[in-house]
Amino acid sequence: MTMSREEMEQMVKAWLQTVEQITRSEGLPVVPDEKTADPLWVDVRELRLKYLIPIKRVKKFFDGLKEGKVYATRCPVKNIYYFPPQADCPVCMDENLEWVEVSGRGQLLTYTVIQVKPASYMHYPDYVIAIARMDEGFNILCWMAVEDPATLKVGMHVKLVVKRREPEGFLTYYLEPA
Ligand SMILES: [Zn+2]
Repeated sequence: MTMSREEMEQMVKAWLQTVEQITRSEGLPVVPDEKTADPLWVDVRELRLKYLIPIKRVKKFFDGLKEGKVYATRCPVKNIYYFPPQADCPVCMDENLEWVEVSGRGQLLTYTVIQVKPASYMHYPDYVIAIARMDEGFNILCWMAVEDPATLKVGMHVKLVVKRREPEGFLTYYLEPA
């Protein structure tokens, strides 16, 4: 199911009105759980949640996206790749990881079409989540840009591309059939 942001806001608004009616008539903001019918207390506080994630030490990754490049980090001691890039090596605690541009070539290991989406993703059309083994020997998990998921085959060649995620319009990486 796809829902526009407006439809989503409408749905939340309608639900809040229902809660208000129940509170008025019953004297308590207690509603039944949709699945189990167990009583749920609807807290009066309302939170709008946006995560803020510090990226100072991995900023090169985001600068790369702007240039259409995808970077990983690599531990020069253990030759381990980290993707999405990490600033520190958790194996040897090295803080001097190297930045390496990902070749972008790989093979499709597995994929799934997401039709039942979490509430915060309901404004997206159905999307494909895929895992690819890159030529460098590490895996990348991300959305796969493909017209028709029926054309996907495990083992097929894929490439990593930078595209905008709509409707938000931010740059991110996708796999694509190569
Ligand atoms: Zn290391």
